Amino acid sequence: MSTPASSRVATSPGSAGAGLLRVLPWLLLGLLLLVPATLSPFYVTLLNYIGLYAMVALGLVLLTGVGGLTSFGQGAFVGLGAYTTAVLSTSETLPGWMAWAGGSPWLALVIGLVLTAVIAVVLGSLTLKLSGHYLPLGTIAWGISLYFLFGTMEVLGGHTGLTGIPPISLFGWELNEGGEIFYLIWAFLLVAILTTSNLLDSREGRAIRALKGGRVMAESMGVDTSRSRMIIFVIAALHAAASGWLYAHMQRFVNPTPFGLHIGIEFLFMAVVGGAGHVWGAVIGAAVITILKQWLQDLLPALFGASGNFEVIVFGVMMVIILQRAPNGLWPILTHWWPDANAKRKVDAGAAPLPRREMPKAGEVLLSAIDVTRKFGGLVANNKMNLSVAAGEILALIGPNGAGKSTMFNQVSGVDTPTSGEVLFRGQDVAGKTSREVARMGMSRTFQHVRLLADMSVLENVAIGTHMRGSKSVLPAAWRLDRAEEARLLAEAARQIERVGLAEHMFDAAGSLALGQQRILEIARALCSDPCLLLLDEPAAGLRYREKQILGDLLKKLRGEGMAILLVEHDMDFVMGLVDRVVVMEFGEKIAEGLPEEVQKNPAVLEAYLGGVA
Ligand code: ADP
Ligand code: MG
Repeated sequence: MSTPASSRVATSPGSAGAGLLRVLPWLLLGLLLLVPATLSPFYVTLLNYIGLYAMVALGLVLLTGVGGLTSFGQGAFVGLGAYTTAVLSTSETLPGWMAWAGGSPWLALVIGLVLTAVIAVVLGSLTLKLSGHYLPLGTIAWGISLYFLFGTMEVLGGHTGLTGIPPISLFGWELNEGGEIFYLIWAFLLVAILTTSNLLDSREGRAIRALKGGRVMAESMGVDTSRSRMIIFVIAALHAAASGWLYAHMQRFVNPTPFGLHIGIEFLFMAVVGGAGHVWGAVIGAAVITILKQWLQDLLPALFGASGNFEVIVFGVMMVIILQRAPNGLWPILTHWWPDANAKRKVDAGAAPLPRREMPKAGEVLLSAIDVTRKFGGLVANNKMNLSVAAGEILALIGPNGAGKSTMFNQVSGVDTPTSGEVLFRGQDVAGKTSREVARMGMSRTFQHVRLLADMSVLENVAIGTHMRGSKSVLPAAWRLDRAEEARLLAEAARQIERVGLAEHMFDAAGSLALGQQRILEIARALCSDPCLLLLDEPAAGLRYREKQILGDLLKKLRGEGMAILLVEHDMDFVMGLVDRVVVMEFGEKIAEGLPEEVQKNPAVLEAYLGGVA
């Protein structure tokens, strides 16, 4: 019998470390409360800056470290938050229609965040489509533009800036001193860290974590990855704007200098140094860079006997060394002895099962390709191909290399559109549908080259497959209002993991599994989307004999449960004795179709397979 998921929790190793991990935030909180009373104003100010920078870096952890999108332009969003509140809280001469917005820093915060979100959505829809180096270049462009806007607009005070910004009041308590606004800054930061790590540990969070290196896979599991990119872009901008708001009320004046491109680069540097994939890395990075900068600014000019921004050079050298020696930043180095967070995850086996789609009756034809032709220029990769798959049946599409199998697979899975002919799935046309829509229709696939997120656990990887069956998004996830749904999604993932026989690896990193197990993981992930047709592209490629047997047994079991399976396979031996029917392709055409044993004796098939070898 397989191990029930929940019983693994208590026995996980390193529970002393886990205990420390639990009390650490409280310890930290206690120390923070004591700071203003015990440290000198110099250190309080330093910690204020660290808190403000860490908030921006936290946004970059999400955007760059987790999501893989590089932005040099966060300084501009900080400026946006700072200038919004500076203008609204200082100007007694707001035009009549805006008078309602003046005077209150808190109202200015709300307005600043809304404004930032709107601008981020506009900038995001312009720049997020850019690929490769164009995205960072795009962020540099708007970083510079907003910076110059701050410096040239007269209502923003030009290069001299705006003064006389009032302190923030909190229930009548005016936060005048550094030691007072300290509490607000760190409260903001801790809430931001808490909500961000909550978000990452959720349905939406898994979609976000799949962005770096798993977009195609995530789309085929029903994730709208463009939306996920926009979400993290806006969240990162909001963190920056909130930091700017706090900054403006701490300094009590603003000018454009601290919102330029150079600071945008420094924010990115903080995120990278701290550990771009970890929320606490933002704090470590902000602390290390801020303290180091302070120290170098004193030390280096004395050392060189001349004044100048020598620290910039040292930072550059440091960046190169860190990227080479510790590409994941300092946080993983500090915490490598802590237990993996996955080990303490609970799966509530009793969570209510998710609703399922109505399954077709055995024998009902689900997929039919009719005269499908696909040309690439002059090359006819598929020529008038016909095939159909019924519920409770395994159909194999086989043929020598280059026969056109993968092309056909792409036509039926909606990845590509036939030049002519049509593909129907349960009566609906597949052509022109996105991977997401196809997944919704009940077709789910695995990949010829496994696509999984190596650092994430088997459970989390498989849970990505449940994405379409949940609906809780950013806000519920950030505030932990998604837990009931999340429990159901994880329970479903655990159920599918047990169904395919990977229960003992539930909490292992997916990358640590053998190839055969990774293939099976992909099947579990596909099953999580509640499909009635599974499409498998060369599932046996690269597997050892025993692994092939295990895979074959699993596919037979799924067929027995009424699943329709179409598999593309190069390996003739794997197919024989497993599948119900075979379609053989060569040079883009169907050369034979029938029962495995018939096809095996077919002279044309023997010629195609053996002829290629001879
Ligand atoms: P198989 O999966 O059976 O090995 P493929 O479907 O990958 O075969 O390829 C069939 C033929 O179509 C090959 O000659 C291949 O070079 C060609 N082909 C596949 N995809 C493309 C493409 N996107 N552009 C041009 N030619 C392609
Ligand atoms: Mg192929």
